[in-house]
Amino acid sequence: MDRLLRLWTPVLLYHGSYPEVPPELGGKLHNVAPDQLVQHTRYLRKHVRFVPIDELVAAEKRHGLASITFDDAYKSVHEHVADALIAEGVPFTIFVNGSSLDGEILWRDKVRIAITNGWVEECEAQLPAGMKIRNLSFYKYTKDPRNDSAAVDAAITRFLEAKGALASLQPATIDRPEAFIDHPLVTYGNHSHHHYVLSSLTKEQQREEILRTEATLDGIPNIRRSRVFSIPFGERKHFNAETIELLKEHDFCAALLSRQRLNLRRRKLDGLPVLERFMPDDDLLGPQLIHFKRLASA
Ligand SMILES: [Zn+2]
Repeated sequence: MDRLLRLWTPVLLYHGSYPEVPPELGGKLHNVAPDQLVQHTRYLRKHVRFVPIDELVAAEKRHGLASITFDDAYKSVHEHVADALIAEGVPFTIFVNGSSLDGEILWRDKVRIAITNGWVEECEAQLPAGMKIRNLSFYKYTKDPRNDSAAVDAAITRFLEAKGALASLQPATIDRPEAFIDHPLVTYGNHSHHHYVLSSLTKEQQREEILRTEATLDGIPNIRRSRVFSIPFGERKHFNAETIELLKEHDFCAALLSRQRLNLRRRKLDGLPVLERFMPDDDLLGPQLIHFKRLASA
């Protein structure tokens, strides 16, 4: 493991950290229980030093370093695991979708609600023509770049509102400025406003997605900010050259991907540093790292 981590730099990506995932988020939510997550950091820190993601981007030599990131800012992270990580002295960055501060339910959670309730067929029957893509599941085609995410979100929201499924639901993601943590080990970054597939939007829509969350984070007192941008969904098809142009234009220092990989060497896309991340399962970390390393070298 020491040899692996001397060459490959891991950036871990987590989402929920519920001891038990609430039923309405069941199914597809990526969740690592708080105890297991702390075990991951204890395991890794025998081999590496944890640094905030911005420090990792700036580091001249990355080997022997690692970073912890959380996307989507699930409340469970603040409620169940943040204090434990701070007590362990582990720095971490939480990437926020600004719309959740407006009280909106993350649209991917709406997709999960439709699936969990067994409403997929009924919902599909009410989607605008052409939105359903053959041979892809509802979960997959709703985030396919061929579908304008804003239009998909609107259609699913209409459906769930008619069902009365949204009225009593609170967002599972952070929705109050007071919940943000003021601590030197905790930084907050931009994950776009609505978590839409950026490559499904025009350049100006993308700009708005990025700048709205910048403004939201600017309005939260006493937090430490990351200049790294976490790309929603994080695969190559989920952003385009315009995304990179915008990130450079608005002074981001790097973009984070999410492709189940470790980092071997520095990489840039059109001049912007990009880093790979991987999403550990709710299981022991060591065997997973070996598996991801194999993927990365394939
Ligand atoms: Zn995300």
